[in-house]
Amino acid sequence: MTATISRPARLPHNAKHAIIISPHGSAHLVGCDHLCDSVISAPKFGWVSKPAPGQWDTISADQPLSATTGADITAARRCKTCQSGATR
Ligand SMILES: [Zn+2]
Repeated sequence: MTATISRPARLPHNAKHAIIISPHGSAHLVGCDHLCDSVISAPKFGWVSKPAPGQWDTISADQPLSATTGADITAARRCKTCQSGATR
């Protein structure tokens, strides 16, 4: 057994539904063209590995989303590119 880290510094590869929060306070989805896997790491980026259903749609200045892992930051807006791909 290797030691487990409670707050991993990188987005787990299996976190396909994670919401990623950039240092600028924008929320992104996994696979966004603006992000590459190598940059999604603490301490700059934070993320929510398992967001609740519909949580993406609630992100706004009134209901900012706080990262649960990685950087201690919040997102107050959604990336437009991700938003257009999120209507599934
Ligand atoms: Zn994006």
